[in-house]
Amino acid sequence: MRCLLFACLLLSSFPSFALDRFQVEGYALRNGLQLLLKPGSDRGHVAIRLVVGVGIDDFSCAEKELPHLLEHLLFSGIDASGEGGLEERMQALGGEWNAYTSSADTTFVIEAPAKNQRQVLDLLLALLTQTQFDDNAINAAKQVVEREDGGHYSHLQRWLDRQDLGHTASNQLAVELGLKCQERAEVDQLTREQLEKVRKDWYAPNNMTLIVVGDLDRLLPAYLERTYGALEAINPTDHLPLPEIKASAAHERSLIHGFVGGGAKLHWLVPEPVLEDQHDETFDLLKDYLDWALYRELRLAHGLSYGPWAEREVFGGVGFMSLNADLERDDVAEAQEVLDELKARLLKDGLNAETFNRLKQAAIARQAWAVQGNSALADYYWGALGDYEDGRFADPAKELQGVTLEEANKAMRELLLQPGYLRIEKPLLSYDQVLWAIAGVLGLLVLILAAWRFHRRR
Ligand SMILES: [Zn+2]
Repeated sequence: MRCLLFACLLLSSFPSFALDRFQVEGYALRNGLQLLLKPGSDRGHVAIRLVVGVGIDDFSCAEKELPHLLEHLLFSGIDASGEGGLEERMQALGGEWNAYTSSADTTFVIEAPAKNQRQVLDLLLALLTQTQFDDNAINAAKQVVEREDGGHYSHLQRWLDRQDLGHTASNQLAVELGLKCQERAEVDQLTREQLEKVRKDWYAPNNMTLIVVGDLDRLLPAYLERTYGALEAINPTDHLPLPEIKASAAHERSLIHGFVGGGAKLHWLVPEPVLEDQHDETFDLLKDYLDWALYRELRLAHGLSYGPWAEREVFGGVGFMSLNADLERDDVAEAQEVLDELKARLLKDGLNAETFNRLKQAAIARQAWAVQGNSALADYYWGALGDYEDGRFADPAKELQGVTLEEANKAMRELLLQPGYLRIEKPLLSYDQVLWAIAGVLGLLVLILAAWRFHRRR
């Protein structure tokens, strides 16, 4: 009987406990370290994410690679066995780790067997507190970062970037508007003192969030209190303000991308007007709508583009929506007309209610299966940290449900009424132009040969 009662209790509590992914046990240790602990549905495994609140946006153009370089350096070893020895320890625990530096944070990502979760966290703590870096380690890390960025930044690449030839359309626009650095950040000139300073100023418990999802050890809270709780808090450094639009950019421009080819890309980019409520949900739904409208017009109705797409991107403190299409070089003008007609029709008639509701329901339905398993859940919490309050993450399905057709129409009108920025990317020459050029050169050679023979005969 007792067993049955227990089973009933377990069965009734399990779905609400495990399936309510938005309810998470969260608290801060005395030193300010934020903890988010969530029992997951997969047994025998834990997903760990340590999010450090320092990213690329916290540094000026010349120093942008500092947090990324430091992230790599932290894997260079905690004792004489160096980088290899550190990796061997993780292998022995059956786990895997990696780290990522983004514009807003630096995050250590670990997957590990549940039974070794405390040892794995020990190793992560050792990496944070015991890594010593010398000049050799710094030079090795510099080489890796440089390779990740696409190899050595050559004089030619720098020159191309300055001539606007090295950037993609949205990046190029961001540079023009003063939202992004003109040249790629470099690692060569970064010093050990600078790296130590980043570590001292930002790698502190009161600037970190530790997320653990999965088959949690019941001693985990006490363990964390004893180990991670001993880290010393610092006076936090302020984040740099995000850049806003400072300069003006041309309404329309052609960008050269590649040398020879028959393709082209059309981009219409426009800053998103800031909405007071539900900004992201509204523009996410609008993006879905525009994505579908582009597909219907440019692919199904006119056959101009195989995979046109709408996209949301953020540069500095400004969000952009873009409408994009891959085209044949000769179809650019026609596609531009179709795009203009589409915008004019949307402004005149508004969003189609049936289409909007269908896409909205699809976006809500997606939420039911979008996050599967411990690792995806941990990643989800990492991405949604700003939406955590009173033990709960905001439920995206509810937020999407709250966006009305009227609000979406208002946002669409504010968006499409702007002139925006048109960017057309194409290679320097088309295949026809290359053929003509070759014919021209051959013709010239024939002429020279004829002139030479004529000259000799005389
Ligand atoms: Zn990297």
